[in-house]
Amino acid sequence: MPIASINPTTGETLKTFESLTKAQIEEKLQRASDTFRVYRETLYAERAAMMTRAAEILETEKQDLARIMTTEMGKPLKGAIGETEKCAWVCRYYAETAQQHLADMLVETDAAKSYVKFQPLGPVLAVMPWNFPFWQVFRFAAPALMTGNVGLLKHASNVPQCALAIEDIFRRAGFPEGSFQTLLVGSDAVEAILKDSRVSAATLTGSEPAGRSVAAIAGSEVKKTVLELGGSDPFIVMPSANLELAVTTAVKARTINNGQSCIAAKRFIVAKEIYAEFEERFVAEMKALTVGDPMNEATEIGPLATAQILKDVDEQVKTSVAAGAIILTGGKKLDRPGNFYEPTVLANIPKDSPAYSEEIFGPVALLFRVNDIDEAIQLANATIFGLGSSAWTNDKSERDRFIADLEAGCVFINSMVASDPRLPFGGIKNSGYGRELGEFGIREFVNIKTVSIRE
Ligand code: NAP
Repeated sequence: MPIASINPTTGETLKTFESLTKAQIEEKLQRASDTFRVYRETLYAERAAMMTRAAEILETEKQDLARIMTTEMGKPLKGAIGETEKCAWVCRYYAETAQQHLADMLVETDAAKSYVKFQPLGPVLAVMPWNFPFWQVFRFAAPALMTGNVGLLKHASNVPQCALAIEDIFRRAGFPEGSFQTLLVGSDAVEAILKDSRVSAATLTGSEPAGRSVAAIAGSEVKKTVLELGGSDPFIVMPSANLELAVTTAVKARTINNGQSCIAAKRFIVAKEIYAEFEERFVAEMKALTVGDPMNEATEIGPLATAQILKDVDEQVKTSVAAGAIILTGGKKLDRPGNFYEPTVLANIPKDSPAYSEEIFGPVALLFRVNDIDEAIQLANATIFGLGSSAWTNDKSERDRFIADLEAGCVFINSMVASDPRLPFGGIKNSGYGRELGEFGIREFVNIKTVSIRE
């Protein structure tokens, strides 16, 4: 894939970039390694001051930074501004809490003193996706840099200007040259970089095939990885739920970021008692969404990020309909320039269709009607993915069942799934392993060193 900014609203190529040469990659890897030796010795207070400065830059420049995101990948500007603010939040959160999360942990044994010490690992390669082009990077970088690691970012090839802007933020915040570097390279360069002995570990957020590949390479080198992969999250609505709120939230949960979110609700599983009413209201609200130029304040759905994603979504819907799915609204591309797809609702989804088993990365909702909670849980778990889940009920025993039995990295009751710097985030099954955020996230890329002292 060429490294290029292509405006998904117009199809216009705005800027192309040459991939780094082998010599340039070598220079950056050496700089990362040299910087790590010095940077790991800095005090938490020094790192926190720089991270707070990064937060201030994000807050002050949020309008301009948001425009870079919207121009490169098409998310509505309002959402891009919110994303920038959330990045500032994660920077402040770890500036304030890293030292406490990584404090020595005393453990009583029969030695005179024994404890656990958390130390940085070294340069970490971050392979990142375009869908939340700032957030995905900052939620890795803020804890990694606060730990004393240094970062090497291989961003998605369609968001190079976001990648360069992020590197620039850390530089202007005062982080030493080499503590956070963007590598403008294609995915074909990842293997050699990851195999380099100066790279200690890798984190990847993206598709399952990319995750498998990076994990296999890292495995062959015995290097730690964290994988945040795809999802097909269930959104279950039971009879006791607040239906009005559930429907409005369902629309938002499916269409946020133009439908391109790993934790978007994708499969709507609704109890038979309320199915007809849910379907009617949900379809009406999906139909009423304003699709258009993501720079406009009123736009709720912008274009899909690339022409390839538009093609993939269109094919998944067409194949599912050919297999027997019914279109309740939408179901086609918009007849205009750019990668626009109509907000779509499918029902009557056959088991052998892509809509049943694959992740659809666009504004396409899948409706399922179930007889009871057992069927709801069984259907929710009938997927290779296990990222997020959302269940709507005001019945205490149903709530307990969902919390206990949904196979997912998180369960949200009566709200949509969202990441939060204070809480761990990640999946099970083919959605990946390891966690980002919270205390668990910051402890992924550390040497958990056991210390035992006898007098
Ligand atoms: P993708 O194609 O896997 O791309 C993600 C990153 O991986 C890009 O930087 C890409 O580089 C790189 N890449 C692709 N193939 C690779 C390979 N074989 N070896 C090494 N690197 C490789 O993912 P996408 O389709 O753009 O992103 C959407 C997917 O990400 C969805 O499945 C979504 O659910 C998932 N996602 C998950 C989370 C989460 O937290 N769990 C969050 C956001 C998105 P190039 O751009 O150069 O190809």
